[in-house]
Amino acid sequence: MEYICDVCRKKISGDPLKFISHTEEHIVDIIKERHPDWVKENGICPKCLEHYKKQLKG
Ligand SMILES: [Zn+2]
Repeated sequence: MEYICDVCRKKISGDPLKFISHTEEHIVDIIKERHPDWVKENGICPKCLEHYKKQLKG
């Protein structure tokens, strides 16, 4: 299955990652700040998740 990541707009093969755990809510907040149109139900690609995880650590 392929999908377009709503954050980086790239075509990704596989499944989008969904945010489930509570600790990831902070990452969701950062992404929403930068991408107001993005909804977390759409998920995110692994690259973006890594990127924003790093931002969270500073
Ligand atoms: Zn992405």
